[in-house]
This record gives sequence, structure tokens and C-alpha cells, in this order.
Amino acid sequence: MSAARPEGGLPPDLLLRSVFDNSALGMVLVQPSTRRIVHANAALCAMIGRGASELQGMPVGNLLADQDTAEGQGVVDALLSGSLASFTREKRHFSAARGEIWCRVTVSLVPAGSAEEPFLLGVVEDISEQIMAQQALEERDAQLRQAQKMEAIGRLAGGVAHDFNNLLSIVLMFGQSLVDQLDPDSPAHEDARVIIEAGERGAALTRQLLAFGRKQVLAPVRLRPASLVGGLEKMLTRLLGVDVHMELRTTTGSGFVRVDPGQLEQVILNLAMNARDAMPQGGRLAIQVDDREVFEEETAGRPGLLPGSYVLIRVSDTGVGMDAQQAAHAFEPFFTTKEAGAGTGLGLASVYGIVKQSQGWIYVDSELGRGTCFSLYLPRWDEADARRQTLPEQPSAPGGSETVLLVEAEQELRRGAGRVLRRAGYAVIEAANAGEALLALEQHPGAVHLLVSDVAMPRLSGPELALRLRAEQPQLKALFISGRADEALIAQALAIGTSAFLAKPFTRRALELKVRELLDG
Ligand code: ADP
Ligand code: MG
Repeated sequence: MSAARPEGGLPPDLLLRSVFDNSALGMVLVQPSTRRIVHANAALCAMIGRGASELQGMPVGNLLADQDTAEGQGVVDALLSGSLASFTREKRHFSAARGEIWCRVTVSLVPAGSAEEPFLLGVVEDISEQIMAQQALEERDAQLRQAQKMEAIGRLAGGVAHDFNNLLSIVLMFGQSLVDQLDPDSPAHEDARVIIEAGERGAALTRQLLAFGRKQVLAPVRLRPASLVGGLEKMLTRLLGVDVHMELRTTTGSGFVRVDPGQLEQVILNLAMNARDAMPQGGRLAIQVDDREVFEEETAGRPGLLPGSYVLIRVSDTGVGMDAQQAAHAFEPFFTTKEAGAGTGLGLASVYGIVKQSQGWIYVDSELGRGTCFSLYLPRWDEADARRQTLPEQPSAPGGSETVLLVEAEQELRRGAGRVLRRAGYAVIEAANAGEALLALEQHPGAVHLLVSDVAMPRLSGPELALRLRAEQPQLKALFISGRADEALIAQALAIGTSAFLAKPFTRRALELKVRELLDG
């Protein structure tokens, strides 16, 4: 009985061998001088997807996805000299069965007999799942941060645009009033027209900002995007020029959605113009409309996309494409890579806002030099959902003699709108808020036919005021003017019936038409 073989025990080499072979962790013995594998255990063979005999004699570097021989040699030298006991690295490895896998490898030295070279022992753990879970988490975090950032910029842009809208309404209304009063041949008439034009350009800009901030008053109707896109074909062809070949594939999209048609056209035109700009030497623009089911599994990693039935519009080009950095910022307002004067950076921002406000989802897929594809998911709006259809605005002869109660806090805007209505023949009672309006009515003997009121007011909102007034005058109609699409307030306002919306800033004619339309309706 020898000391190396205690009673009931195994010889140490046999014990080691058994631990090595049966370990759940991958293990590998490597010869330091040749860096070749001497022996690999079953767990490692399974992890790498190769047989033991196949691995034997193979350079251990062949298993590594990224080799760094200089670093490797340094560590091995340190191990051999005894200055380092062991080291651990997390690296990507090749697996015959699973492609690349992530492994945590701990290497230490196994002394051999005195004459022999020691071995390197590698203990290998497959950490692919951990790494993937961590990457997914980081990705989700980044997407969440991006969404929060867009939300914050949206609020800022929407707020600024809202206040600007009120000011522009005043500029446009008084500008128009000036034009009306001045002799068409006078130089002042021309000056006033220039003011109006600038005001209208400003209004177009604020509309895009409002769209991004999702503060636009939309007029959604039930429509088929396939038809809408088809209807744009002529205009698009002209817009894109001869060097860009356009392909419309709309036959597989038969679904209806509920969007503002003017806004959806704007979205398509914006995307098409960007595509054109991305293909200065010409290329191909494809617009495809499909019905598309989105399943739960597909929504992972796509915050904001809900499972359900959609119409998917894809706008793709063969242009210069975007790198990851550009794509990440593309939807932000004022992000542009175009020369000053060539781009405002508001196109995609408004596209983003319109799609979001329509409960849709937008996604860009792009690579430098390989083109770009925008995917727009718009929720399907089936027959059953289609109870409300907005009527097209009918240009009737404006003017009338009914009595209008005008409630608007902004004094200049109220004065301007009041003047427009009086000129059109109406009797106008002005009030700055709901309280004033109620007082004014008490002193007014006759009937009031129409309430024109701001929606959001302190204490009593526009719709609440309308309801209060209807207690006395059930026939009272209501026109709400608003620069902000507060969903809750709009729903509340529409719920009271015989009411309509007019988005600020509005022109004189728009106000006249809307008032007449409501009174006649
Ligand atoms: P603008 O067109 O005024 O620059 P947009 O908001 O429409 O503003 O677009 C922002 C930026 O996104 C563009 O300047 C461009 O860098 C990039 N971009 C948008 N669409 C495409 C496209 N189809 N291909 C390549 N880059 C694009
Ligand atoms: Mg653009």
C-alpha cells in the first residue's frame, strides 16, 4: 500500500482525469510552446461542436473568433515565469454547431514532471446567453432613452409652435385686413402682401413643428393608403425627375386606415423628396403598400409598436444611405446633412409626429452606400371602426346675419376674428373668457346662434362653456379654435355635437367658411 494511494481512494492522476473528463465546464490542455491542443474534455467538444480527436493537435487559436497573439504571448510568458497565477478572458469563439459563441476562459499552469514542459489548462464556460441578455438590455435602454428624448424635444417644439401660432394668426388676419383696405395700386398694398406671404411661410414652418410635437389638429378620415399613394403617382414622377425610376407596388395593400389624407400625402412627399436628394446620380424609389399583421414576438425591441393589424407602407431608395449615427438623429427636428438653404431638417420630424399622432409606428433601416428604407405602420381601421367620417369642406357663400359669441383670451386675435365676422355681416359679442361670456349673455336680449371659442381656457373649457350655454339655448352651435390638439379636449368637444374645429393659425376665409358651414349644417 503506497502513500500516494490511500485506502478507498483513486490514484491522483486517475482522479484528475475523471474530474477533467466529466466536468460540466469545458476543459482543455494546451502545450505552451506549440499552442496546440493536447486534450479537450467532452463538455468542450459539445460546446465547440467538434470531436475530441478533431481538436487534438489543433492550434488553440483556431477556436478564437478574434485573435490577439501579442497579448496572448505576454500572458503565457507571465504564467510560465510564475509572475501570474491565472488569467480570465471573455472572448468570442467559433462553434461548428452554433457559429460564434461567447466564452469565459480561465487559464492556469499545470506543472508536469520535472523534465517535461508544463501544460496550460483552460477552463471554459459558455456565457453566450448572459452576454446576449445583457446586450438586449442595453439595446432596450438605448431605445428607451431615444424615445424619451424625442418626447422631450416634441414637447418643447410643440410648445414654441403653439405660441407662435397665435402670433401668426394675428399677423395674417391684420395683414389681410390691411390688404383689403389699401388701394391695390399703392406701394403699401404690395408691402402688406409681402407681410402676409412671410406670415404664411412662417405658418408652414410652425405646422411642421406642431406636427412633430403631435400638437396638430388632424382631420382623419377612413381611407386606403394604397389608393392615396396611387393617386400621388403623377406628382411623384414629376418631383423625382427622369433619373429616378419609380416603382409603386400597392396591390397587396387593401386595408383601410384612419388618417388625415393631407398629412399622409405630406409624409409620402417628404420621404420621396429625401429619397430624391439621396440619389443625385439617379436610382430607384420603391413605394410598397401591404397589409401586415404584427405579432407579439415582433414587437420586442421596438418600443411603441403594438401587436395588431396594420397597413405597412415602405418607402425605399437606392441612394447614399445613412450611417448609424445619422439614422439615430434623422427624426429630430433641425437635424440635416444638407447645405444651408437646401434642408430645414423638419421633414422627417413632421413625418415622425404625424405617424405617431395617427397611432402608427415608423422605423428606418439604412446603411451607408446601400440605400434607405422607411417602414410606416398605420393601424388598420376596419368597417366596424368606421362610424365617423368627416365631411369635405364645402366652399359656400360666406357671410350672414346671425349672432356670434366670440371667446378668446388673446386680445389681438379676438379683435381680428371679431372684425372678420362683423365684416361678413354677423353680430358679434366678444369675451375674453368664460366668465365674461356668461355675463355678456345675461345682458344680451336676443338669441345667440354660434359660439366661437378657444378650447383650453382656465376654469371653464370651451366645450364646458358650450354645454353651460346650451342649457339656455339648446340650438347653439360651437366652433372651437385651437392651436393644440389636446386629445382629451377634442374628444370632449366633439362629444357635445354640432361643433367643429378650426386650427390656428387660420385665414380670414377659413374662418368665414367654417362659421357659415356650421350655421348651415
Ligand atoms: P432635410 O431633408 O431638410 O435635411 P429631413 O428631416 O427630411 O430634413 O431629413 C433629415 C436628414 O436625414 C437628411 O438631411 C439626411 O441626412 C437624412 N435622410 C433622410 N432621408 C434620407 C434618405 N432617404 N437617404 C439618406 N439620408 C436621408
Ligand atoms: Mg427632407
